Amino acid sequence: MRIKFPLGRRDGPTDAWTKCPGCESQIFNKQLERNLRVCPTCGHHFRMSVGERIDLLVDRDSFEERDAGLTSGDPLGFHDQQAYADRLEASHIKTGLREAAVWGTARIEEHPVAIGLFDFRFMGGSMGSVVGEKVARCFEAAIGERIPAIIVSASGGARMQEGTLSLLQLAKTTAPLARMDVAGVPFISVLTDPTTGGVLASFASLGDVIVAEPGALIGFAGARVASGTVGEELPEGFQRSEFLLEHGFVDLVVPRAELRRTLGRLLRALPVAAAAGGAWPPTEERAWGPIGVLSDFAERLGGAVSETIGIDVQAEEENGGGPTPPASREAARPPRGGKAP
Ligand SMILES: [Zn+2]
Repeated sequence: MRIKFPLGRRDGPTDAWTKCPGCESQIFNKQLERNLRVCPTCGHHFRMSVGERIDLLVDRDSFEERDAGLTSGDPLGFHDQQAYADRLEASHIKTGLREAAVWGTARIEEHPVAIGLFDFRFMGGSMGSVVGEKVARCFEAAIGERIPAIIVSASGGARMQEGTLSLLQLAKTTAPLARMDVAGVPFISVLTDPTTGGVLASFASLGDVIVAEPGALIGFAGARVASGTVGEELPEGFQRSEFLLEHGFVDLVVPRAELRRTLGRLLRALPVAAAAGGAWPPTEERAWGPIGVLSDFAERLGGAVSETIGIDVQAEEENGGGPTPPASREAARPPRGGKAP
């Protein structure tokens, strides 16, 4: 005899439960929300929307969005299985957002900040012209208003539907960081699941402090591509927060429940320097800086800047021991057009 369900199986509230990919337990959605979208059994951190992030991180009612009206054009008239314009519209309907990132000013434990947040639900949090512009404006505002900047990333990388214009965002978002460093304005980068591709390859990896959520996927390319590129097996979990913490790429792995308090503590520890003209000429000794950008400059400029940033660059010992100086590395490279051995 057939058993009749009063509502029919299909009519039940199928979206009331979420299966945890970490431990496979079924979690009641209400419980998941109450628990900051962290699995109560295994601690798996589920992704969050921009709205949930704002509620999680900033002081109540302190977030003031800026540039909310910026929307993507379709400069290439891009069309794959679906037109780019249609994808944008679908994401807008799904999320209520106009783009994959929002930015504005807010307070975190009373500290004013310029903060940008990504939403992975909007086209995989991909960075096209508008997202790049918002991130850059967030940094510009941090410099202009002399408040620290925070970006909470969740992105698959550059947005392919805008082609090269998306790649330009890598330069656009990193250039203000060098100016922030000179101005002594700190930048805290928060990496959440996932932070990959062009977002990781630009501003997200240049924080004065890089904070990650537990278990977040962080990497440039997928594990298979990365493994194929270097031609060897890479260790298990090499693109997870914990591995990157062990290897020095990430400074802190912070469970979601402590994230706001940690940011508050960092903001107290990293005050904005006094404006230029005061006690902050950029040539004086520094306590912090986007080390990635600086060490790159240091490599190119040799010993000239090593005093100011405290990085020991042995430019004059070209043939001596220690790290290979840029000049000899250049010489070791086969000449352009020449045949490699
Ligand atoms: Zn779980």
